[in-house]
Amino acid sequence: MKIGLVKEIKVHEYRVGLTPSCVEAYVENGHTVFVEKDAGTGAGFENSEYEKAGATIVEDKKKIFDESEMIVKVKEPLPQEYEYFHEGQILYTYLHIAADRPQAEMLLNKKIKAVAYETITNNQGGLPCLTPMSEIAGRLAVQEGAKFLEKPFGGRGVLLGGVPGVQRGNVVIVGGGIVGLNACKMAVGLGANVTVLDISASRLAFYDDLFGSQVTTLFSNKTNLIKSIKEADLVIGAVLIPGATTPKLIKKEDLKLMKKNSVLVDVAIDQGGCFETSKATYHDNPTYIVNDVVHYCVANMPGAVSLTSTLALTATTLNHGLAIANKGLEKALHDDIHLSNGLNTYEGKLTNKAVAESLKIPY
Ligand code: NAD
Repeated sequence: MKIGLVKEIKVHEYRVGLTPSCVEAYVENGHTVFVEKDAGTGAGFENSEYEKAGATIVEDKKKIFDESEMIVKVKEPLPQEYEYFHEGQILYTYLHIAADRPQAEMLLNKKIKAVAYETITNNQGGLPCLTPMSEIAGRLAVQEGAKFLEKPFGGRGVLLGGVPGVQRGNVVIVGGGIVGLNACKMAVGLGANVTVLDISASRLAFYDDLFGSQVTTLFSNKTNLIKSIKEADLVIGAVLIPGATTPKLIKKEDLKLMKKNSVLVDVAIDQGGCFETSKATYHDNPTYIVNDVVHYCVANMPGAVSLTSTLALTATTLNHGLAIANKGLEKALHDDIHLSNGLNTYEGKLTNKAVAESLKIPY
């Protein structure tokens, strides 16, 4: 199969869909890989390394799209890229189309066979291609939140760990899944007071077993949410309903109850966000303020740690990508229910129920 690896164009997105060692694996399996010039430099991989692995470096993005049967990316196609796709092309990337109607319409109109990393499943009931990015985003959420709590960055001037004789900062994590757990590990590690809210009793019990009295667990309901955000210095939004837009759990009016210059990090922004006032931001201008509360809503947080992220992502996406290339998409989907759960659009139809319901487009 002819595979095209293109450079990401999203602002400050430095990840890349294939490392040189992934390219080597495709080439060893008899495939041809076109790599857009400088596609990997942001993650620390030079053109010469891709060439050594057997890829052909191509300067013209359009040529790669024209000649490739499968495009491998990291982020969803942006409007500037829509024109490059051709009918029947396979797209293997993060899509997040539940909250992105223009992209969904493009994929349907052009009859793209789009496999979304974020809806591929595994035997444990997890989302294996989302997990590593969630781990990174969760850990980064605390790092970024701590930074934006600093006065020069617009925050309250609070050190999350406090110091002897001075109280610790309060971190509230809404959604205790993978992002939440990794945020919790970092926040506990920094010495903050941590509260985790989730609707899942078993998930809260897991936290209780793991962290004991270091973490307070609360059922996620309006009363507990309001009580928690009133005390918070940093609130991390980490809710997910797979494939669907995120419920707006904290409303604009609720911000008035929060401490002045406290910080919200809405990691769930890629699915619409779990705070009513969230709107996607970019790494070059990641925050804005509403009702004296600093909002950080970067939709591609792992892009900031591009080397770690690329290595973690490609380790999980490579095998399914190879299966598609080796067997052809249809056979690969037929053989693997988990890969077929990743299929979001096929020949002009939406093929993922939760995504279709969210977009209100027939499934
Ligand atoms: P996950 O499925 O592991 O966890 C989601 C958790 O939310 C679950 O524990 C679930 O019980 C809980 N939940 C559902 N409804 C809730 C509610 N009303 N109140 C509290 N908790 C609720 O998902 P995850 O991997 O942790 O991802 C969380 C979000 O982060 C997703 O939207 C994901 O797309 C996003 N994400 C964003 C970035 C980024 O760069 N911004 C990176 C990675 C992941």
